[in-house]
Amino acid sequence: MYPHAKQAPAQATYRQKMNWFRPKYIVVYCLIIIAGIGAGVLTYKHNLNNHLTIVTGEADALLAVTNSYVSLYSEMREQLGEGSSPVPASFRAEAVERFNSGYTGESHFLTQMVGMPARFVSTAPVDDDMRATLNKMSSGPVATVHSDILETDNQTIVRTMYPSIATHQTCVDCHNQMLNSTDTWEIGDVMGAYVVERSIQSTKERYFFIAAMVGCLSTLMLLFGFVLVRFYSDLKLRSAELKKMAHSDPLTGCLNRRALDNRSNALTKNSRKNTAILVLDIDHFKSINDTHGHEVGDKVLVWFARAVRSQLRSGDVLARVGGEEFVVYLLDTPETVAHSVAERICRRVASETLDFGATPFSVTVSIGGVHTSRVPNASFKKYSKLADEFLYKAKAAGRNRVVWSSA
Ligand code: GH3
Ligand code: MG
Ligand code: MG
Repeated sequence: MYPHAKQAPAQATYRQKMNWFRPKYIVVYCLIIIAGIGAGVLTYKHNLNNHLTIVTGEADALLAVTNSYVSLYSEMREQLGEGSSPVPASFRAEAVERFNSGYTGESHFLTQMVGMPARFVSTAPVDDDMRATLNKMSSGPVATVHSDILETDNQTIVRTMYPSIATHQTCVDCHNQMLNSTDTWEIGDVMGAYVVERSIQSTKERYFFIAAMVGCLSTLMLLFGFVLVRFYSDLKLRSAELKKMAHSDPLTGCLNRRALDNRSNALTKNSRKNTAILVLDIDHFKSINDTHGHEVGDKVLVWFARAVRSQLRSGDVLARVGGEEFVVYLLDTPETVAHSVAERICRRVASETLDFGATPFSVTVSIGGVHTSRVPNASFKKYSKLADEFLYKAKAAGRNRVVWSSA
């Protein structure tokens, strides 16, 4: 007995709506947002680092000039001798006072002696952290410039430091005179630092704004790209579904008449030879409907299509062209083989007992067949018409049989 016929697997369905909130899409949205944030953060860091490099470069140049002034000044004093010091007594007195009150305010040496604009020069209080940094910077063979971004009250500043190392005895002597402590400096000691500080508050805010814009735009662009890709793939899927629906029989999943006509035209155009055309019609199908019901009749049609398909190769064509009428194209098949396939289908169909309703029953089929080698240079429609004529001969001869064109 044949088990209950199932719905044809190739049946086409058409989806109406796109679902934008499947879990995998939610993951894509999260990844897009992360990518957008990442783009913003990278932009921010890149801009800030660039700015830091530029600010450090400028400060470096400024400090190098300062350092060379100090060296020149020290050499000049050494050559002139301590007694001929060009440092005015009033400056020295003021410098001592400021020095001992904690290194605050602008550097008098740089602003008054060297002529550096005061806005570039300040002498920050040297705390322990700064001292440690300076010592680290001066520990190598060459003193280096060091920049830090510091957060102060409502301000972000870039601080560039350069250690002031005692290279001349005059430096040591002068500084030791000012130092109000028991410690004394020696040549090679870090006596202080040149420090340039610049506020980057507004720059930082601007870069933050740019980064936020870049992040938002990247996210929007990625989302837009994703939506485009989804629309495109959905369109492709829908057109494939529609094409399938337009070319297949919804009950059995076989090709329909439209699809068969397309195939026929293509085969005619290519002058396809060595092909057999079979027209199959289930015998007394009306009485199956009448006896077992229309639903069982549908199951028989599904079962029949499968039974026929099981006797064909994957490249062969099976189409439902009417209620219980089917057409088969056996491609590249010699006539004798095609004839035996038709006979096999006939036997196979008749051999099954179907158990779809209250009482088991069996079904037979009549087949008319023609081979293209027998009727050369005709269109596939013409072959089908001939096969149709042989089908009616099979019906007239008592059904459940194959009538071949050679008969
Ligand atoms: P014959 O042996 O001469 O071919 O007799 P027949 O009863 O098979 O042929 P006829 O053309 O008289 O009847 C075909 C029947 O097929 C009539 C129609 O109700 C039925 N039919 C057509 N399409 C469907 C369908 O999709 N489902 C079902 N269940 N029946 C269908
Ligand atoms: Mg029939
Ligand atoms: Mg019929």
